[in-house]
Amino acid sequence: MSARILDGVRIANEIRSEVSAEAKNLTAAGVRPGLAVVLVGHNPASEIYIRGKVKACEEVGLYSEQHTLAEASTTLEVLNLINDLNRRDEIDGILVQLPLPGQVDSKKVLMAVDPAKDVDGFHPVNVGLLSTQRPGLVPCTPAGVMEILKRSHIPVAGQEAVVVGRSDIVGKPAAMLLINANSTVTVCHSKTHDLPAVCRRADILVAAIGRAGMITRDFVKPGATVIDVGMNKVTDPVEFQRLFAGNSKREENFRSKGSTLVGDVHPEVAEIAGALTPVPGGVGPLTIAMLMYNTVKAARLNRARWSVVSGQ
Ligand code: NDP
Repeated sequence: MSARILDGVRIANEIRSEVSAEAKNLTAAGVRPGLAVVLVGHNPASEIYIRGKVKACEEVGLYSEQHTLAEASTTLEVLNLINDLNRRDEIDGILVQLPLPGQVDSKKVLMAVDPAKDVDGFHPVNVGLLSTQRPGLVPCTPAGVMEILKRSHIPVAGQEAVVVGRSDIVGKPAAMLLINANSTVTVCHSKTHDLPAVCRRADILVAAIGRAGMITRDFVKPGATVIDVGMNKVTDPVEFQRLFAGNSKREENFRSKGSTLVGDVHPEVAEIAGALTPVPGGVGPLTIAMLMYNTVKAARLNRARWSVVSGQ
């Protein structure tokens, strides 16, 4: 048996074109959705992520602006920028690229973002809205996981779901979304006993761990759907061999680049799973697509709020 590969690029493109159509409608009605991305300092990885996000905004027709503050900025300086963006009507979404430099209080900064503009869905108000099933902004990566399941017609209601990882960014919100979609959910972490046995209960297994190829075939019930959120850069040749020995395409890629991108799921799982997201090309592309989706959703929610307040 070989798993059905769930194509994240195709699904992300589908979502992007829906977002683009909605952005066009809103713009025609005089309300172009706008995203502000905030970067503090010059972390090269963050700069690449930010460029990708700004480019994606342009492609789907959203307004975007980038704010780069100096590496030595204080918490107060970042807070002043956030407050300014909170006040501006043409900005519907604010994204603060993490990690922030050590001297900046990240929690304070994330708490300062207006929950109605919190397109990352990290603000406690949005966490509360998600857990009580009220409309709000949902973290992009877990929202992308649910879109993959939905658009691949994988049943969720009544299924056993196991989420490995309990971060505020991925694991916990993914578990909450699965509960809200009527799965029976188990959340695992580094202190879970007999992790392979718990994972083998899953009809849907979500791996959000940050450990290259940790989920091997003995963690997977035959036929299960496996969603690999992990993004790990492997540079060690021994580790590379453990994961990709005999895969000539990957070997060529590794030789030329000196590294390769690997999920938390070992490639051998494709032999036993019913469906599997690849890395790259699985959950990753959904994260940016859902950021665009959230920006348009925030624009819609904000304008609705606005018309109630102004009586329009
Ligand atoms: P965190 O490091 O915040 O959380 C990792 C979680 O995995 C923790 O809950 C930790 O448990 C658990 N864990 C670690 N080791 C083990 C183990 N040996 N057994 C069981 N559980 C373990 O990571 P994130 O949630 O931020 O990210 C997870 C992965 O997803 C990373 O690879 C990241 O790069 C990727 N990612 C991908 C995105 C995408 O767009 N595709 C977006 C965001 C993240 P404990 O709580 O006990 O420490």
